[in-house]
Amino acid sequence: MLIVQTAADGKGKRLTTTQPIQRGAAFHTIANYRFADERTYTSVQIDSDESIEEHFLAHLNHSCNPNVIIDATSLELRAIRDIQPGEDLTFFYPSTEWAMAEPFTCLCGTANCIGTISGARDLPLNVLGRYFINRHIGGAALEHLVGKGIEAQVSA
Ligand SMILES: [Zn+2]
Repeated sequence: MLIVQTAADGKGKRLTTTQPIQRGAAFHTIANYRFADERTYTSVQIDSDESIEEHFLAHLNHSCNPNVIIDATSLELRAIRDIQPGEDLTFFYPSTEWAMAEPFTCLCGTANCIGTISGARDLPLNVLGRYFINRHIGGAALEHLVGKGIEAQVSA
C-alpha cells in the first residue's frame, strides 16, 4: 500500500510503498481526483488541456531515473522496475507535463539528470525519447517540431 512520508530532513514529502511492487504492475488507480482549475506544483496533466489533483500524485516526486510511470490514459500508476518497500516512488514529470507552472532544478543525483525540470516543451527529442511519455505529450512535441520547421523555412 502507498503511504506519504515526510522526508528525513523534514523538508518535503515523498510517496513510498509498504509492500514490494513488481516491475510492470499497475499498482494504483487514480480515482479520488479533481480537475485542477490551473496547473500547480502538485497538479498532473492528463490531456492537452486538462490537469488533475490527487493526494498520492501530489507527493509523487520527480526523478530523471524514475521507477514509476503515470499512464494518463488509463489513470494508473505502473512500476517500470521492481520496487522494494520504503523506496521513494518517482516519475518523470515531463512525461505528463508540457509546460510546468513552477520549473525547478532537479537534485535527483542520477547519472542522466537533465537539470532544470520545466516540462517536455523545453527538452530535445533525443532526451524525451529515453522515457515513457504520454500521448498528449507526444502529440504536443510533434506539433512543436512542425511549428519550428515552419519558422525555420519562413526565416530562411
Ligand atoms: Zn534529475
